[in-house]
Amino acid sequence: MTGTAPLDRVADFPAIPDGWAYLDTAATSQKPRPVIDAIARAYDTTYATVHRGVYRRSADMTTAYEAARARVARFVGAPGGADEIVWVRGATEGINLVAQCWVAKQLKAGDRILLSALEHHSNIVPWQMAAERVGAAIDVLPLTPDGRIDLDAMEAIIRPEHRFVALAHVSNVLGSVLDGARASRIAHSVGAKILLDGCQAVPRMAVDVAALDCDFYVFSGHKLYGPTGIGALWGRAELLEEMPPWQGGGAMIDRVSFERTTYAPAPGRFEAGTPHIVGALGLAAAIDYVDGIGLDAIHAHETALVARARDALGAINSVRLLGPGDSAGIVSFAVEGVHPHDVGTILDEERVAIRAGHHCAQPLMEVLGVDATARASFGVYNGPADVDALARGLDRVRRIFG
Ligand code: PMP
Repeated sequence: MTGTAPLDRVADFPAIPDGWAYLDTAATSQKPRPVIDAIARAYDTTYATVHRGVYRRSADMTTAYEAARARVARFVGAPGGADEIVWVRGATEGINLVAQCWVAKQLKAGDRILLSALEHHSNIVPWQMAAERVGAAIDVLPLTPDGRIDLDAMEAIIRPEHRFVALAHVSNVLGSVLDGARASRIAHSVGAKILLDGCQAVPRMAVDVAALDCDFYVFSGHKLYGPTGIGALWGRAELLEEMPPWQGGGAMIDRVSFERTTYAPAPGRFEAGTPHIVGALGLAAAIDYVDGIGLDAIHAHETALVARARDALGAINSVRLLGPGDSAGIVSFAVEGVHPHDVGTILDEERVAIRAGHHCAQPLMEVLGVDATARASFGVYNGPADVDALARGLDRVRRIFG
């Protein structure tokens, strides 16, 4: 496999039984033992609240919780360190935060937001809601014939009215990888800010927000071998500093009185209420886990699995492969004359778990001319045998449907 030792990490994942091909990592990843242990340890032995307690246990938990924030900052290369990391429930909440606290505050009627045709609903609907509030309009970048966001078109379309751009770093349907640095350059050429949705990128490639030169970056922990209910928003310090809070409550304040309340500096200002303490620790353990393997090794591993899958599926007459040949860890396909749900059900009987549906990307389905696709997506626990099981399962689909 591209000169690196094949990854064989399935033994780290207790929820993957022998012979089960779990090919739905793009929806959510399975959890490795070190992450499960970190979560169990936190509840078993070290649990307490953070930021409030005067007792030792709480002070220690606060240290661990803030160390997790610093771990995320190092993981994405945040130039301003931990203060640029806002804990959120996941990418969806991170995008909504930016839509409500930056876009809805900074944009005015007549301004425009630029998205692409392949975005997840999480990277469409929050901008629509913000645009509606201020009277801004949304433009949509087309895709290249092989399913990438067309950055040549972006260069041609963008103009100074575009104040904000939001694009997927990696498509959750097609696996297409965006040249994020080029997208940032184009956005900045007209003075627009840019957010990259890194949900599908962080589990499968090294990410450095300074090199990408974007303004905001979001991801969810549960796709990165971490727990659900926790994710991170990275934002440039100066942008976070100018953003007002969005939810009020405990922990986000400086001082409260009935006459006047003042707010904590970022990132605390955006984190009202008792946070997902153990989730943050679990996410830090997940980052340690993937860094221990190495994201370049994970990327090479998944690239090899994608190549094997495209070869095997491409050899089946009735299968149409969607997306670019060099997709990151994700292969969508259509089987002629068979609904993706039927494909998924038959594959399940063969102990192959794929996703079938619109993948929260209905506008992309329209571009592809389908209602739904079947999608196989890979992780560190998959190997060639899983791809072979998928191909065998599809052969059965073909036989059943003639
Ligand atoms: N963006 C992309 C590209 C995704 O794949 C997903 C999850 N499918 C999301 C955003 C939303 O993530 P979450 O549901 O974890 O908030």
